[in-house]
Amino acid sequence: MFDIEPDSVEHEVRARARAIAAEILRPRAAELDLRGGFPRESVLALSAAGLMGVNVPRELGGLGAGALSYSVAVTELAHACAATTVALCVNNMVAEVVTHFGTPEQRSVHVPKLCNGEHVVGAFALSEAGAGSDPAGMRTRAQRTDRGWVIDGSKLWITSGSDAGLFVVWAKTSDDPGARGISTFLVPGDTPGLTRGKPEHKLGLRGSTTCAIEFSGCEVGPDALLDDVGKGFRVAMMALDGGRIGIASQAIGIGRAATEAASRWATERYGVHGVPQGVSFALADSATELDAAALLTLRAAWLKREGRPFSHQASMAKLMASEKAFAACNRALALMGPEGQDRDSPVERFFRDVRVTMIYEGTSEVQRLVVSRDIARRFEEAR
Ligand SMILES: Cc1cc2nc3c(=O)[nH]c(=O)nc-3n(C[C@H](O)[C@H](O)[C@H](O)COP(=O)(O)OP(=O)(O)OC[C@H]3O[C@@H](n4cnc5c(N)ncnc54)[C@H](O)[C@@H]3O)c2cc1C
Repeated sequence: MFDIEPDSVEHEVRARARAIAAEILRPRAAELDLRGGFPRESVLALSAAGLMGVNVPRELGGLGAGALSYSVAVTELAHACAATTVALCVNNMVAEVVTHFGTPEQRSVHVPKLCNGEHVVGAFALSEAGAGSDPAGMRTRAQRTDRGWVIDGSKLWITSGSDAGLFVVWAKTSDDPGARGISTFLVPGDTPGLTRGKPEHKLGLRGSTTCAIEFSGCEVGPDALLDDVGKGFRVAMMALDGGRIGIASQAIGIGRAATEAASRWATERYGVHGVPQGVSFALADSATELDAAALLTLRAAWLKREGRPFSHQASMAKLMASEKAFAACNRALALMGPEGQDRDSPVERFFRDVRVTMIYEGTSEVQRLVVSRDIARRFEEAR
């Protein structure tokens, strides 16, 4: 039975995330947005709080708290600072990927370091120029040698690329068409031949570095291969299914923060009993849509926790959450008029930060493709 009533572990993780959001992330968020750059101290504080591996087994250094705990923690943190939270989301995704697909040695070498901050943070290097929605079109190659592999190519838009101590990298290992020739590699950030580009100047999430990563004669040992040769596409898609729960949760946190800020503003401007009905109804729409998105997100997280398929449910959650959170931020801006546009208003930042949740880990169109393919599959099965 679908049961999302939080248990004691989930309560504890939410409280932990709420506390660190209040003490560390929220007070620094505006300044981080203005200054830009990677929030290393805050990320290390999240590691110290155990939040860099929420759904990673305890024996590998994680909290072992499950997918529902992860979702609620991300929402709490993104409510305070979406930029710092995306570094945490990618790290959790990388730690889960290595846990799921790694050999015992790969797991014991890397996962504790991803959880405790020794790797600082993990990065997920899939997208390339012209190969984001369609990663099967990637051009980065890994050539087998008698000492392991040599990687050549370039990746684009890699979150935390400036500071990551470990990159999960996808590369073509054969000329097999489409997704079949892709494999996955674990590449430490100090490997010769790996070069980090300058952080991009972005609309939002300015406190998260997004970089191009070049691989030029980048040599790694045979132990860098994650899962089997040619199975990389499956690894990436499974990682993104879980990642989409994280981004949906992030979007909900941003949307709720904007709605609460607009509600506070309306009460101050009009008085508790004087808020015009048009304003309060707009806020009611935002709250309702965000709760609906949160229920979809918790359903996907619950399915994942139960070990059941959750791919199209995660896509539904991300589609709904990112689009409704964007609408909520847009409404908050509209209600607050010029004050919402001011750089001193957090709503201005929320509006810029939320936009990318409709782009990364699959655009809204890609989520619609996943959902519509599932509808077609079920239709075929029912015939
Ligand atoms: C801030 C930021 C951080 C990121 N972090 C990472 C990261 O850490 N790791 C990583 O690997 N990538 C990362 N990305 C890349 C991101 O995942 C891609 O930008 C995204 O998947 C879109 O791919 P694309 O850029 O190739 O755009 P395109 O695929 O070229 O899309 C352009 C437009 O065409 C639409 N479109 C594409 N295909 C279809 C279709 N079949 N049907 C209908 N419409 C379609 C898209 O929805 C979009 O609107 C990040 C991006 C950003 C902006």
